[in-house]
Amino acid sequence: MRKIPVTRDGRKDSEILLISSSDVVKVESFRENQLLIHTLDEVYYFSATLDSLEEWLYEDGFRLIDRTNIVNMNYVVNYDSNSGVVTLGVPGRKRRKQASAARIHRDHIINVMEMLRIASAAKKEGYPENDPSHDQLRKLIEESQDDPYLRSYSMIHAVYERNRAEKRLVESEQRYKSLFENNPDAVCSLDAGGRIITVNPAMVKITGYAAEELTHKPIADLLLPGESTRWEKHFALALEGQTQYFEQTFIRKDGLASIMSFIHVPIYVDGGINGVYVIAKDITERKRSDELLIKSEKLSVVGQLAAGVAHEIRNPLTSLKGFVQLLKSKVNDYDHYFDIMLSELDRINFIVSEFLVIAKPQAVKFQVKDTASILLSTVALVNTQAIMQNVEITTRLNEPLPSVLCDENQIKQVFINVLNNSIEAMPDGGVIVIEVFAKNGNIVFLFTDQGVGIPEERIPRLGEPFYTTKEKGTGLGLMVSYKIIENHHGRMSITSELGRGTTVEVSLPIAQPEP
Ligand code: ADP
Ligand code: MG
Repeated sequence: MRKIPVTRDGRKDSEILLISSSDVVKVESFRENQLLIHTLDEVYYFSATLDSLEEWLYEDGFRLIDRTNIVNMNYVVNYDSNSGVVTLGVPGRKRRKQASAARIHRDHIINVMEMLRIASAAKKEGYPENDPSHDQLRKLIEESQDDPYLRSYSMIHAVYERNRAEKRLVESEQRYKSLFENNPDAVCSLDAGGRIITVNPAMVKITGYAAEELTHKPIADLLLPGESTRWEKHFALALEGQTQYFEQTFIRKDGLASIMSFIHVPIYVDGGINGVYVIAKDITERKRSDELLIKSEKLSVVGQLAAGVAHEIRNPLTSLKGFVQLLKSKVNDYDHYFDIMLSELDRINFIVSEFLVIAKPQAVKFQVKDTASILLSTVALVNTQAIMQNVEITTRLNEPLPSVLCDENQIKQVFINVLNNSIEAMPDGGVIVIEVFAKNGNIVFLFTDQGVGIPEERIPRLGEPFYTTKEKGTGLGLMVSYKIIENHHGRMSITSELGRGTTVEVSLPIAQPEP
């Protein structure tokens, strides 16, 4: 029987006590260089590093539970494999100690307990016969003739088991980590309170936020205002164990909205759910092209319909117009009314023709046309609406202006689109200045308004089909305009300052005189 030198209660001046190692049931590292030695009756402090003690302890029958918990296996009376706690005690005495055995393989502790039980029974009653499951044990006991051998076998086995388990853990951790790190989809884990705990590189890339920024952000900041309830509903269901699939809009750091498809997967730890994995894919592009397809399909259906209707309307219009003109020449005194009727009929005709333009591309007729007259007649067309909106259109022409080779109607359509956009950008009225001048073989038209302007990052999107910020907009005006100007070998560009106004520049090549 060996004695362990201990300092009682950690007091430096206290005398050194010697206690029998078989009284020690548990050694626990307390602070660095301080070990708590548990006997069944008393607690003592011992100042030494664990390493220096370990070898000695092993020899004396102690088992490694983990680096900081060493228990005397001879005193293990119970092991709860659920909580990983061993209970230590001496038979016939009331006091019990507990130690955590979480890091050791549970089968191993049970095995050792069983071995020791059999060994002590064997000591009293002789070795069990005819039981093949005890063969290994009997061999061990026979070879060693001594419990300490058994103990050190158990100890080595325990360390081996632990290393193996740790290695397996590290490997499987790396496997999961690789799935997490290299996943092309954004993956993040949330705790049960919905806070972001970890994010993968794809998440950083897709959202534009750094990982640290994300882990400090409440989810609500990343969603559209008022949309967090929906998120929370799915999150709560996932916490109850139901995997969720849904789509929701996500706000990136640059303020752009991305439509994402989300999967919420419960995270199970020790049989309970303690968080949720979120896997997200950016489906904005897919959604947009789906929408585009639907819209353009709609448009072509509407267009075909419009073309049919337009055609049917134009024929009766022609006869209406003819008869109004006839009546006007026959009836005196009502010229004013007839003029209104005629101009309204012209307007109907114009609107219907516009329909036809959308419905099918008209045969373009390129002719040399006078620049000023195209512009002035367009302004006259738009002016009524401008005046109603409190907008004044000022034109500055540096005449004489050279002519352009163009399809007059198409160029008018471009100017109408541009002017309408400017009027719509000035809900409280304002001034539109149109400047026209010749420059480097081109005629340049500058349309400048005092409207709301366009944010810089949106400018590249202008001219995309269906890109509109207006409730009743079509997002087709600029697209058609760009297309027309392109067909005329011209150029169209937009510059804008938010809150100050927008300038649209259209330039067309000057018509070469016929040889
Ligand atoms: P729509 O007028 O039907 O919206 P457009 O293709 O004509 O479609 O214009 C697309 C978008 O470009 C508009 O919704 C608007 O946001 C922006 N825009 C175009 N012109 C202007 C302008 N002069 N001032 C401010 N925004 C403009
Ligand atoms: Mg428009």
